[in-house]
Amino acid sequence: MKPTCPCCHNKFKSTEIKNTNKKGIFFEVECPSCRTWVRLNKTQEIIKAAGISLLLITSLLNIFSIKSEYSSIFSTVGFTGIFIAMLITFFSKHEAIK
Ligand SMILES: [Zn+2]
Repeated sequence: MKPTCPCCHNKFKSTEIKNTNKKGIFFEVECPSCRTWVRLNKTQEIIKAAGISLLLITSLLNIFSIKSEYSSIFSTVGFTGIFIAMLITFFSKHEAIK
């Protein structure tokens, strides 16, 4: 994933990021060119977290064979969740923190 800085429109590699800041599920990075703090759009970050949680929950249900008659439904739901999370990771927009 290469975040694009909304301020200077510079694409920076994750290896160039020197400063990061984690606030709960929100992950903030500092643009190496203009030193603006950048984060993922909040709504996208929440949907991404929800997608990952969905996969975790449905996987756990399957592992412990809870409601095993629904296991194929759980697998489908879990796959959809991680698929959405992946889409957001690849196509998400970053915004500057003011
Ligand atoms: Zn920048």
